Amino acid sequence: MTGETLRLMAVHAHPDDESSKGAATTARYAAEGVEVLVVTCTGGERGDVLNPSFAVPEGHGFESLEDKRAVRRLEMAAAAEALGVQQRWLGFVDSGLPEGDPLPPLPDGCFALLPLEEATAPLVELVREFRPHVMTTYDPSGGYPHPDHIRCHEVSVEAYHAAGDPERYVVEGGAAPWEPLKLYYNHGFSMARLRAAHEAMEGAGLESPFGDWIESRTAREIPEREVTTRVEVADFFDRRDAALVAHASQIDPGGFFFAVPRDIEVDVWSTEEFELADSRVPTSTPEDDLFAGVRKES
Ligand SMILES: [Zn+2]
Repeated sequence: MTGETLRLMAVHAHPDDESSKGAATTARYAAEGVEVLVVTCTGGERGDVLNPSFAVPEGHGFESLEDKRAVRRLEMAAAAEALGVQQRWLGFVDSGLPEGDPLPPLPDGCFALLPLEEATAPLVELVREFRPHVMTTYDPSGGYPHPDHIRCHEVSVEAYHAAGDPERYVVEGGAAPWEPLKLYYNHGFSMARLRAAHEAMEGAGLESPFGDWIESRTAREIPEREVTTRVEVADFFDRRDAALVAHASQIDPGGFFFAVPRDIEVDVWSTEEFELADSRVPTSTPEDDLFAGVRKES
Protein backbone atom coordinates (compact mmCIF):
# COMPACT_ATOMS: atom_id res chain seq x y z
CA MET A 1 0.00 0.00 0.00
CA THR A 2 1.24 3.42 -0.84
CA GLY A 3 0.92 6.90 0.63
CA GLU A 4 2.52 8.63 -2.37
CA THR A 5 0.61 10.36 -5.16
CA LEU A 6 -1.33 7.73 -7.06
CA ARG A 7 -0.73 7.31 -10.76
CA LEU A 8 -3.05 5.87 -13.42
CA MET A 9 -1.98 5.01 -16.96
CA ALA A 10 -4.74 4.47 -19.54
CA VAL A 11 -3.42 2.85 -22.73
CA HIS A 12 -5.46 3.41 -25.91
CA ALA A 13 -5.10 2.53 -29.58
CA HIS A 14 -6.14 5.78 -31.30
CA PRO A 15 -6.79 9.41 -30.39
CA ASP A 16 -10.54 9.49 -29.40
CA ASP A 17 -10.54 6.04 -27.73
CA GLU A 18 -9.58 7.67 -24.41
CA SER A 19 -12.73 9.80 -24.70
CA SER A 20 -15.12 6.91 -25.42
CA LYS A 21 -13.76 4.26 -23.03
CA GLY A 22 -13.33 5.09 -19.35
CA ALA A 23 -13.06 8.84 -20.04
CA ALA A 24 -15.14 10.03 -17.10
CA THR A 25 -13.10 7.76 -14.81
CA THR A 26 -9.83 9.38 -15.89
CA ALA A 27 -11.40 12.84 -15.46
CA ARG A 28 -12.61 11.91 -11.97
CA TYR A 29 -9.26 10.58 -10.79
CA ALA A 30 -7.42 13.57 -12.25
CA ALA A 31 -9.81 15.92 -10.43
CA GLU A 32 -9.13 14.02 -7.22
CA GLY A 33 -5.37 14.59 -7.52
CA VAL A 34 -4.32 11.31 -9.10
CA GLU A 35 -1.71 11.73 -11.83
CA VAL A 36 -3.37 10.41 -14.96
CA LEU A 37 -1.49 9.67 -18.17
CA VAL A 38 -3.30 8.68 -21.36
CA VAL A 39 -1.00 6.77 -23.70
CA THR A 40 -2.02 6.72 -27.36
CA CYS A 41 -0.34 3.95 -29.35
CA THR A 42 -0.97 5.27 -32.87
CA GLY A 43 -1.57 8.64 -34.49
CA GLY A 44 -4.98 7.68 -35.87
CA GLU A 45 -3.64 8.32 -39.37
CA ARG A 46 -6.09 5.96 -41.09
CA GLY A 47 -9.29 7.27 -39.54
CA ASP A 48 -11.90 8.60 -41.96
CA VAL A 49 -13.98 11.66 -41.25
CA LEU A 50 -16.92 10.33 -39.24
CA ASN A 51 -18.58 13.64 -38.46
CA PRO A 52 -20.62 15.20 -41.28
CA SER A 53 -20.23 18.67 -39.74
CA PHE A 54 -16.42 18.44 -39.50
CA ALA A 55 -14.51 21.38 -40.96
CA VAL A 56 -10.77 20.86 -41.54
CA PRO A 57 -8.95 23.33 -39.28
CA GLU A 58 -7.50 26.41 -40.95
CA GLY A 59 -4.08 25.73 -42.48
CA HIS A 60 -4.52 21.93 -42.37
CA GLY A 61 -5.56 19.16 -44.75
CA PHE A 62 -7.15 15.75 -44.14
CA GLU A 63 -5.83 13.69 -47.07
CA SER A 64 -2.41 12.20 -46.39
CA LEU A 65 -1.36 10.23 -43.32
CA GLU A 66 0.73 13.26 -42.27
CA ASP A 67 -2.27 15.61 -42.64
CA LYS A 68 -4.46 13.40 -40.53
CA ARG A 69 -1.79 12.89 -37.90
CA ALA A 70 -1.41 16.66 -37.51
CA VAL A 71 -5.16 17.30 -37.20
CA ARG A 72 -5.67 14.46 -34.80
CA ARG A 73 -2.85 15.76 -32.61
CA LEU A 74 -4.70 19.05 -32.27
CA GLU A 75 -7.91 17.22 -31.41
CA MET A 76 -6.13 15.01 -28.88
CA ALA A 77 -4.58 17.99 -27.11
CA ALA A 78 -8.02 19.57 -26.71
CA ALA A 79 -9.51 16.30 -25.43
CA ALA A 80 -6.71 15.83 -22.87
CA GLU A 81 -7.33 19.35 -21.64
CA ALA A 82 -11.05 18.66 -21.30
CA LEU A 83 -10.35 15.54 -19.25
CA GLY A 84 -7.58 17.20 -17.22
CA VAL A 85 -5.09 14.46 -18.03
CA GLN A 86 -1.56 14.22 -19.39
CA GLN A 87 -1.08 12.44 -22.72
CA ARG A 88 1.81 10.82 -24.59
CA TRP A 89 2.12 9.20 -28.02
CA LEU A 90 3.92 5.93 -28.66
CA GLY A 91 4.43 7.06 -32.26
CA PHE A 92 3.15 4.01 -34.15
CA VAL A 93 1.15 4.22 -37.36
CA ASP A 94 -2.57 3.36 -37.40
CA SER A 95 -3.25 -0.05 -39.04
CA GLY A 96 -6.67 0.99 -40.35
CA LEU A 97 -9.78 -1.17 -40.14
CA PRO A 98 -9.62 -3.65 -43.04
CA GLU A 99 -12.92 -3.95 -44.90
CA GLY A 100 -14.08 -6.15 -47.77
CA ASP A 101 -14.28 -9.84 -48.62
CA PRO A 102 -11.63 -11.12 -48.66
CA LEU A 103 -10.11 -8.65 -46.22
CA PRO A 104 -7.17 -6.73 -47.69
CA PRO A 105 -3.75 -7.13 -46.06
CA LEU A 106 -2.72 -4.60 -43.42
CA PRO A 107 -0.44 -1.78 -44.65
CA ASP A 108 3.32 -2.23 -44.32
CA GLY A 109 4.88 -0.95 -41.12
CA CYS A 110 1.59 -0.44 -39.27
CA PHE A 111 1.27 -0.97 -35.49
CA ALA A 112 -0.49 -4.35 -35.70
CA LEU A 113 2.17 -5.89 -37.98
CA LEU A 114 5.24 -5.00 -35.92
CA PRO A 115 6.94 -7.71 -33.87
CA LEU A 116 5.48 -7.64 -30.34
CA GLU A 117 8.77 -6.58 -28.70
CA GLU A 118 9.24 -3.67 -31.06
CA ALA A 119 5.64 -2.55 -30.50
CA THR A 120 5.95 -2.87 -26.70
CA ALA A 121 9.40 -1.32 -26.11
CA PRO A 122 8.31 2.35 -25.95
CA LEU A 123 5.42 1.49 -23.63
CA VAL A 124 7.78 -0.33 -21.25
CA GLU A 125 9.97 2.78 -21.21
CA LEU A 126 6.96 4.96 -20.45
CA VAL A 127 5.81 2.64 -17.63
CA ARG A 128 9.28 2.87 -16.12
CA GLU A 129 9.25 6.67 -16.43
CA PHE A 130 5.69 7.38 -15.25
CA ARG A 131 5.54 4.53 -12.70
CA PRO A 132 1.78 3.90 -12.74
CA HIS A 133 0.19 2.01 -9.86
CA VAL A 134 -2.74 1.06 -12.10
CA MET A 135 -2.92 0.47 -15.85
CA THR A 136 -6.03 0.15 -18.02
CA THR A 137 -6.30 -1.33 -21.51
CA TYR A 138 -8.74 -3.40 -23.64
CA ASP A 139 -9.79 -7.01 -23.23
CA PRO A 140 -8.17 -9.67 -25.48
CA SER A 141 -10.82 -9.17 -28.18
CA GLY A 142 -9.92 -5.48 -28.33
CA GLY A 143 -13.47 -4.69 -27.21
CA TYR A 144 -13.97 -3.80 -30.87
CA PRO A 145 -12.36 -5.88 -33.62
CA HIS A 146 -9.86 -3.31 -34.89
CA PRO A 147 -6.35 -4.74 -35.28
CA ASP A 148 -4.90 -1.80 -33.32
CA HIS A 149 -7.25 -2.45 -30.41
CA ILE A 150 -6.18 -6.08 -30.19
CA ARG A 151 -2.56 -4.95 -30.49
CA CYS A 152 -3.14 -2.36 -27.74
CA HIS A 153 -4.25 -5.19 -25.45
CA GLU A 154 -1.17 -7.24 -26.34
CA VAL A 155 1.39 -4.50 -25.76
CA SER A 156 -0.28 -3.37 -22.52
CA VAL A 157 -0.28 -6.88 -21.04
CA GLU A 158 3.31 -7.41 -22.16
CA ALA A 159 4.44 -4.08 -20.66
CA TYR A 160 2.52 -4.71 -17.41
CA HIS A 161 4.40 -7.98 -16.96
CA ALA A 162 7.83 -6.95 -18.31
CA ALA A 163 8.39 -3.38 -17.04
CA GLY A 164 9.39 -4.57 -13.56
CA ASP A 165 11.91 -7.09 -14.86
CA PRO A 166 15.44 -5.62 -15.04
CA GLU A 167 16.46 -8.30 -17.52
CA ARG A 168 13.80 -7.46 -20.10
CA TYR A 169 13.62 -4.49 -22.45
CA VAL A 170 17.03 -3.34 -21.24
CA VAL A 171 17.81 0.22 -22.38
CA GLU A 172 21.21 1.77 -21.75
CA GLY A 173 20.60 4.78 -19.47
CA GLY A 174 16.85 4.03 -19.34
CA ALA A 175 14.57 4.47 -16.31
CA ALA A 176 14.63 1.87 -13.49
CA PRO A 177 12.27 -1.11 -13.67
CA TRP A 178 8.76 -0.47 -12.32
CA GLU A 179 6.05 -2.97 -11.55
CA PRO A 180 2.46 -1.65 -11.80
CA LEU A 181 0.14 -3.11 -9.14
CA LYS A 182 -3.12 -3.61 -11.03
CA LEU A 183 -4.23 -4.11 -14.63
CA TYR A 184 -7.80 -3.53 -15.84
CA TYR A 185 -9.74 -3.93 -19.05
CA ASN A 186 -12.10 -1.07 -19.96
CA HIS A 187 -15.67 -1.94 -20.71
CA GLY A 188 -17.25 0.41 -23.18
CA PHE A 189 -20.92 -0.17 -23.83
CA SER A 190 -21.98 -3.41 -22.19
CA MET A 191 -25.24 -4.97 -23.34
CA ALA A 192 -26.66 -4.30 -19.88
CA ARG A 193 -25.83 -0.61 -20.27
CA LEU A 194 -27.26 -0.41 -23.80
CA ARG A 195 -30.46 -2.13 -22.69
CA ALA A 196 -30.85 0.10 -19.64
CA ALA A 197 -30.41 3.25 -21.73
CA HIS A 198 -32.70 1.93 -24.48
CA GLU A 199 -35.49 1.02 -22.07
CA ALA A 200 -35.21 4.28 -20.15
CA MET A 201 -35.41 6.33 -23.34
CA GLU A 202 -38.39 4.42 -24.67
CA GLY A 203 -40.00 4.69 -21.24
CA ALA A 204 -39.59 8.47 -21.42
CA GLY A 205 -41.20 8.52 -24.87
CA LEU A 206 -37.92 9.31 -26.62
CA GLU A 207 -36.52 7.65 -29.72
CA SER A 208 -33.66 5.34 -28.75
CA PRO A 209 -30.75 4.95 -31.21
CA PHE A 210 -29.72 1.67 -29.58
CA GLY A 211 -32.34 -0.77 -30.88
CA ASP A 212 -30.43 -1.92 -33.99
CA TRP A 213 -27.18 -2.09 -32.08
CA ILE A 214 -28.72 -4.31 -29.40
CA GLU A 215 -30.24 -6.55 -32.07
CA SER A 216 -27.01 -6.97 -34.03
CA ARG A 217 -24.99 -7.69 -30.91
CA THR A 218 -27.57 -10.18 -29.72
CA ALA A 219 -27.46 -11.88 -33.14
CA ARG A 220 -23.67 -12.12 -33.09
CA GLU A 221 -23.78 -13.72 -29.64
CA ILE A 222 -20.71 -11.85 -28.41
CA PRO A 223 -20.05 -13.15 -24.91
CA GLU A 224 -20.30 -10.47 -22.24
CA ARG A 225 -17.14 -9.78 -20.22
CA GLU A 226 -17.11 -9.90 -16.46
CA VAL A 227 -17.49 -6.59 -14.59
CA THR A 228 -15.48 -6.48 -11.36
CA THR A 229 -15.31 -2.75 -10.76
CA ARG A 230 -17.82 0.08 -11.12
CA VAL A 231 -16.53 3.61 -10.73
CA GLU A 232 -19.10 6.31 -9.94
CA VAL A 233 -18.62 9.09 -12.50
CA ALA A 234 -21.91 11.00 -12.86
CA ASP A 235 -20.20 14.30 -12.07
CA PHE A 236 -17.72 13.82 -14.92
CA PHE A 237 -20.00 13.11 -17.88
CA ASP A 238 -19.70 16.76 -18.95
CA ARG A 239 -15.93 16.42 -19.20
CA ARG A 240 -16.28 13.16 -21.11
CA ASP A 241 -18.64 14.81 -23.60
CA ALA A 242 -16.34 17.81 -24.02
CA ALA A 243 -13.45 15.45 -24.75
CA LEU A 244 -15.51 13.51 -27.30
CA VAL A 245 -16.54 16.71 -29.08
CA ALA A 246 -12.87 17.76 -29.21
CA HIS A 247 -12.30 14.85 -31.64
CA ALA A 248 -14.18 16.80 -34.29
CA SER A 249 -13.11 14.65 -37.25
CA GLN A 250 -14.31 11.46 -35.56
CA ILE A 251 -17.27 12.27 -33.35
CA ASP A 252 -20.61 13.53 -34.62
CA PRO A 253 -22.05 15.90 -32.00
CA GLY A 254 -25.49 14.76 -33.19
CA GLY A 255 -24.60 11.07 -32.88
CA PHE A 256 -25.40 8.26 -30.49
CA PHE A 257 -22.75 9.24 -27.94
CA PHE A 258 -24.93 12.20 -26.99
CA ALA A 259 -28.35 10.63 -27.54
CA VAL A 260 -29.20 9.89 -23.93
CA PRO A 261 -30.37 12.98 -22.02
CA ARG A 262 -28.06 13.62 -19.08
CA ASP A 263 -30.74 13.18 -16.40
CA ILE A 264 -31.66 9.77 -17.82
CA GLU A 265 -28.01 8.75 -18.10
CA VAL A 266 -27.26 9.73 -14.51
CA ASP A 267 -30.40 7.96 -13.37
CA VAL A 268 -29.89 4.61 -15.11
CA TRP A 269 -26.11 4.36 -15.54
CA SER A 270 -23.87 6.64 -13.50
CA THR A 271 -20.79 4.38 -13.50
CA GLU A 272 -18.05 3.18 -15.84
CA GLU A 273 -17.17 -0.50 -15.72
CA PHE A 274 -13.86 -2.32 -15.63
CA GLU A 275 -12.65 -5.89 -15.38
CA LEU A 276 -9.73 -6.58 -13.05
CA ALA A 277 -7.32 -8.62 -15.17
CA ASP A 278 -4.43 -8.87 -12.72
CA SER A 279 -3.56 -7.60 -9.25
CA ARG A 280 -0.34 -7.73 -7.27
CA VAL A 281 -2.11 -6.36 -4.16
CA PRO A 282 -4.89 -8.00 -2.17
CA THR A 283 -8.33 -6.75 -3.19
CA SER A 284 -11.79 -8.21 -3.24
CA THR A 285 -14.33 -7.78 -6.00
CA PRO A 286 -16.72 -6.18 -6.66
CA GLU A 287 -14.81 -2.93 -6.25
CA ASP A 288 -15.77 0.73 -6.71
CA ASP A 289 -12.24 2.12 -7.01
CA LEU A 290 -9.40 1.21 -9.39
CA PHE A 291 -6.99 1.89 -6.52
CA ALA A 292 -8.68 -0.49 -4.05
CA GLY A 293 -5.87 -2.29 -2.22
CA VAL A 294 -3.34 0.28 -3.45
CA ARG A 295 -4.33 3.34 -1.40
CA LYS A 296 -2.80 3.77 1.97
CA GLU A 297 -5.55 3.13 4.51
CA SER A 298 -6.50 6.31 6.31
ZN1 LIG B 1 -9.67 3.04 -31.81
